[in-house]
Amino acid sequence: MVRRIVIIGCGVSGTTAAFYARKTDRTAEITIVGSETLPEYSRCGLPYAFSGVVPNLRSLIGFDEDFYEHTNRIHLRLGLTATKIHSDHQLVEHDGEDRLGNELAYDSLILTTGAHPTTLSVAGSNLKGVFTIRTIDDVEHLADYLREAMAKKVAIIGAGLTGSEMAEALLLRGVAVIQAEIVPEILPVILDPDMASIVREKGQEHGVEYHLQSSLEEILGDKERVVGVRISGRTHDVDAVVVAVRVRPNTELAKDAGIQLGESGGIRTDDRMATSAKNIYAAGDCIETFDLITRRHVFFQLATTAVRQSMVAGINAAGGEARYPGSTGVTTVKLFGLEVATLGPTISMAEKMGMNPVSVRITGSTRLSYYPGGKDLTVKLLANPNNGKLLGAQLVGEEGATLRANSASMAAHLGLTVQEFAEIETCYSPPLAPVWDPVTIAAQALLKKLKPVSAQPPSATISGH
Ligand SMILES: Cc1cc2nc3c(=O)[nH]c(=O)nc-3n(C[C@H](O)[C@H](O)[C@H](O)COP(=O)(O)OP(=O)(O)OC[C@H]3O[C@@H](n4cnc5c(N)ncnc54)[C@H](O)[C@@H]3O)c2cc1C
Repeated sequence: MVRRIVIIGCGVSGTTAAFYARKTDRTAEITIVGSETLPEYSRCGLPYAFSGVVPNLRSLIGFDEDFYEHTNRIHLRLGLTATKIHSDHQLVEHDGEDRLGNELAYDSLILTTGAHPTTLSVAGSNLKGVFTIRTIDDVEHLADYLREAMAKKVAIIGAGLTGSEMAEALLLRGVAVIQAEIVPEILPVILDPDMASIVREKGQEHGVEYHLQSSLEEILGDKERVVGVRISGRTHDVDAVVVAVRVRPNTELAKDAGIQLGESGGIRTDDRMATSAKNIYAAGDCIETFDLITRRHVFFQLATTAVRQSMVAGINAAGGEARYPGSTGVTTVKLFGLEVATLGPTISMAEKMGMNPVSVRITGSTRLSYYPGGKDLTVKLLANPNNGKLLGAQLVGEEGATLRANSASMAAHLGLTVQEFAEIETCYSPPLAPVWDPVTIAAQALLKKLKPVSAQPPSATISGH
């Protein structure tokens, strides 16, 4: 009998799951039901398409419909929202009845419903000119609005990843930015304050007016359009507001079907991406992910994590066998000419989890001092003093942060101790990399804090060859 696989959500997770299901079962009938009218596109590219660095917004679309329908025989049912799962009858209901009705029977169901941005409840939140950034439509509407309003200044609420990327994008479009963040420093989820301040100073040089430890109290309007914001008692004239606070997993459908959610509120899966309901799998931003470093279930809400989980969900839903080991949550972003790459909890997050991390911060160079063009790279490493394992890495510099974070991610994935990480040899050539890489130097320094001096590897002060 032909296996019927239904996937809810046509983001990167739904699309990846569908393609891997097809590779696993060449004859299965695969259908994706997606609320948006477009097939999968890169949400990660939205700030760059908005800024104009990526000239064509539609180039973010991964594959045309023909590639789904004809090359891979995946039926796309776009513009339809799944409204109910009958897990006992293995049936999904959706809105907007078309020629195929409004029900889909499945043998395997994959939930990839993603996440939605948080909206605010302060006065004025419903005014024209208040935006969130999640979809191509959001970005198109914001761009149109700014053009029509001949906007000169925008307030961004939240200085996390999306808020910071949008701050840079707005500046590139010639619009001034004020940015409010409720905690004392920007990028609080991925960086400790001493590392984030390097990025903030660059943002300030580029023109961002930050308001830290400040909260939005009211959005002010005139004739239903935004004219200002009140942030911690002060009024600022702005033409629009971008709300970039948290995103939350879309779990209503799963919850309604009695599928177990985890403590953090995302859908709970096992390492086959199977949910608590028979033949129902889930992946991506709607689920909670096992964090390989802290050994807890958390929200990473990263495309990298989503595609790996969906690959596993797609294979298993199609009768194959695959397992997802968990994630290190390694993240990178380019802001104001700086690469910012991180993994693991910040110190304050680790402390909240009851850990007492040991940390070290050094600034090295991406080349030897005699060779022109080397750039400063600031590296902060965290370790768990109880087992000597690498707990986190934060890297900020004009170049070289991302690939080094990947090597730290590999170490964390393998559960290496700081000693083992410090011993790993890295390559060297004057135009490309120093003999002692900044990450190795940081690991050696961290080791000194963790262990007696007698157990040290060669001195990190050796600088040339
Ligand atoms: C501005 C921005 C920048 C980002 N940058 C990065 C980055 O640089 N690196 C990185 O790793 N990650 C980044 N991310 C995160 C990344 O985009 C997400 O992790 C990824 O998109 C998750 O994919 P998903 O398919 O699980 O969920 P989504 O992309 O949210 O897709 C879910 C889809 O399901 C649909 N849906 C929901 N409910 C239903 C329903 N009931 N019926 C039918 N359809 C439904 C939704 O409409 C949506 O189309 C960024 C995100 C944003 C917004």
